[in-house]
Amino acid sequence: MHADYQLHGDVALITLNNPPVNGLGYETRAALMGALAKALADTSAKAIVITGAGKVFCGGADIREFDTPAAFQEPNLHTVITALEQSVKPVLAAIHGTVMGGGLELALACHYRIATPGTQVAMPEVKLGLLPGAGGTQRLPRVLGVEVALNMILSGEAVPSERLAALPGQSLFQRLSASADSLLDEALAFARDVAAARPLPLVRARPCSHPQGEAYFQFARNMLRPSTQNLPAPLHCVDAVQAATGPDFGAGLATERSLFERLMATPQSRALRHLFVAERAATKIADVPPGTALRPVASVAIIGAGTMGSGIAMNFLNAGIPVQLLERQPEALERGIATMRRNYEAQIAKGKLTPEALAQRMALLRTTLRYEDLAQADLVIEAVFEDMDVKAAVFGELDRVMKPGAILASNTSTLDVNRIAACTQRPQDVVGLHFFSPANVMQLLEVVRGGKTAPDVLATVMALAKRIRKTAVVSGVCDGFIGNRMVEQYLRQAGFLLDEGCSPQQVDKAMEAFGMAMGPFRMSDLAGNDIGWAIRERRAIENPGMRYSPTADAVCEMGRFGQKTGAGWYDYQPGKRDAIPSAEVAAAIDVVRSAMGITPRKIGAQEIVQRLVFALVNEAAHILEEGIAMRAGDIDIVYLYGYGFPAFRGGPMRYADELGLFSVAQAMQRFASNPHADPAFWQPAPLLSRLAASGKTFN
Ligand code: NAD
Repeated sequence: MHADYQLHGDVALITLNNPPVNGLGYETRAALMGALAKALADTSAKAIVITGAGKVFCGGADIREFDTPAAFQEPNLHTVITALEQSVKPVLAAIHGTVMGGGLELALACHYRIATPGTQVAMPEVKLGLLPGAGGTQRLPRVLGVEVALNMILSGEAVPSERLAALPGQSLFQRLSASADSLLDEALAFARDVAAARPLPLVRARPCSHPQGEAYFQFARNMLRPSTQNLPAPLHCVDAVQAATGPDFGAGLATERSLFERLMATPQSRALRHLFVAERAATKIADVPPGTALRPVASVAIIGAGTMGSGIAMNFLNAGIPVQLLERQPEALERGIATMRRNYEAQIAKGKLTPEALAQRMALLRTTLRYEDLAQADLVIEAVFEDMDVKAAVFGELDRVMKPGAILASNTSTLDVNRIAACTQRPQDVVGLHFFSPANVMQLLEVVRGGKTAPDVLATVMALAKRIRKTAVVSGVCDGFIGNRMVEQYLRQAGFLLDEGCSPQQVDKAMEAFGMAMGPFRMSDLAGNDIGWAIRERRAIENPGMRYSPTADAVCEMGRFGQKTGAGWYDYQPGKRDAIPSAEVAAAIDVVRSAMGITPRKIGAQEIVQRLVFALVNEAAHILEEGIAMRAGDIDIVYLYGYGFPAFRGGPMRYADELGLFSVAQAMQRFASNPHADPAFWQPAPLLSRLAASGKTFN
């Protein structure tokens, strides 16, 4: 049953029971309506308490249902809310753990609310490009005041119940329980206290206004505009809350409804909802069942205290997991520790960390020069030079010293994880953990599944990713894994754009206007242009037919490796990160164009965006068909968290789906017929061709 019914003396207790978060899907709504009808018909019940089974009251609507008929199937959430509000017996919500979105809207329709301290209260709809659509924008301002309610609706962030309960004049919570354990007893006693009180208090009957009226809402809109150019939801949230200050509650509800429906139909909301579902799906691995027993990870060892090793270590220290750091020389250890300290001190300067927390974290760190000292670690992550011989030697040592069952991980970005695994007698314990730089900041973790990686190793590292607040996506073994294999094609195409007539700044501007956190040339300057140079050198041997723009090599030959050398695709002033267009690079591009006999042409922003995004999409279609990625949504998550792809576009695959794969394939054909195009580049991946021909989508 999705809602349980029990009689406690003269109080009916309805318990929402839809694990894990008591989401308000069709069956839960129907069960709640059934239980409510039973309570109303039950002559011994004088009052009704609604609570949630398990750790939370209610996490809200079931978002997987959103685009299906089930979302509208009666009883829908509006019907349930109306029924609660119209109940002739007092209804009291007993709230614990979490109350979010539709769950909060449901609670607001009850006559009374009691919550445990520490309950997380949120209206997170804006994060899905929506607004609370079941009366939330009308009722929350009536219990918290317009400003607090609007801030909650606009941020989508959770606020603890005790903070809200302390607001002067609030009527969200009539009481806070003494503890989580006493909530139910206190709720039942509260229900008895108010069982006979009439009239029943209704949130909708409370007044709602702001002293500055229109001026306040205009101010709120002006504040939001610069940061919400591509997001219609926040401004509509303001519109809906303003409607709550009108004379008629019903009219306000109708405004909320129409704004909600408008937002539901926007590509931005579809994109954000897709990412929400994709992020949760990414944790599931078909042949690794959810109940798989995990290996304990209570301590971690890291080999190499360079850029990556020190950043990776911070993730574990932040999560309270002890770390041992191994290097070849004491000086390298000192450098690594100094980097970590500097990063932590920067956080202290920004007020994001206390000196005590820094001390606690550093106290969890040990260093060593001897492999034997690592033997008892549960997980070891190698982050030494990107060189197969060096890695082979490290894994040989690890195989010799590590206790049986320890997980042996490599942070390699390009090397074959199966070859690394073969350097040990325990390939089943070897996995790739590809962190992104800066490793203490970037949220993405590519988990590289070797041919022999054991299912429990995969399950363990996926769970561990969550502990260290990373979003993990599984990739099969291939050159570059999911993210970098795609970015290579993106950067190749960016080079061709230069050959044909663009400047680096034009390309970057177009991609940044599209929503990328950084255009391809600014990104390369940040990562280091020498990385791509090394890859091109390797390709020249492995795949001599592969064409690249000669400008990328020319820029590297000038020593312009990017920000670290003070010059790359752009010029940089010492100590600054502002990218200044470079005359030297412009001249190098001209030389290449003349040598290639190209007369530069003007290329519009749309062509730039489509060529670069479709370069990603076509490679991704290969990756998907080869089974390197398990799902198109996984690829979108990689690009969201690893490459700054705009969330409101939903990731490259979702974006292509939104345009229609037939249009994508057609545009690729057009690009291939361009006089200076490399036709091989635009050869559509078989999966893309098939889906385009049959009118299907990736996701
Ligand atoms: P780095 O040069 O900054 O650090 C490597 C460290 O490993 C150095 O401190 C070095 O002293 C140490 N080291 C080398 N051989 C060793 C050995 N045998 N035993 C112990 N320590 C040894 O390099 P990095 O940028 O941190 O890269 C490390 C790994 O991470 C590489 O595999 C790289 O491909 C991968 N990676 C790098 C990035 C990035 O953006 N830098 C991103 C993802 C993955």
